[in-house]
Amino acid sequence: MGSKKRVAVSACLAGHNCRYNAEPKGNPEVIKKLEKEGCEIVLFCPEDACFGTPREAMDLTATSEGVKALTKFSREDRTGPIVDYAEKFFDDNPEIDLFVGKARSPSCGVCTGRLYDEEGNLLSEKEAGIMTAEAKARGIKTVDDESL
Ligand code: SF4
Repeated sequence: MGSKKRVAVSACLAGHNCRYNAEPKGNPEVIKKLEKEGCEIVLFCPEDACFGTPREAMDLTATSEGVKALTKFSREDRTGPIVDYAEKFFDDNPEIDLFVGKARSPSCGVCTGRLYDEEGNLLSEKEAGIMTAEAKARGIKTVDDESL
């Protein structure tokens, strides 16, 4: 008997109220599809784990030190804790076959994250979030929920 496909999924897609504004925004179709395929679903939410809910929203920002996740108004750099969470998550779950991230999230977006410069000008809408970048660096296949 073959082993189940293990899929890491942004917890908000499963209906967890872990978004920055504590408003639910699940994607039941994605969860149903994965369940129907018999996948093992492993949920994650770096931002809730690191900063709690609700919390200030963040933007991916191009800085002189690379892409950072900065809070929208107080401009606090929240990159480090998200990277630490992502490294631990993938270390603890080494056999992930697929990563399904919430589209447009600065942590979990796959190719839909918005990147701004330090003056707030939009540079791109095709970026990977901070947690997604770690998945990609480990060679894990990644997809936005809206593209699954
Ligand atoms: S997109 Fe990612 S960080 Fe944001 S609420 Fe969903 S799981 Fe958490």
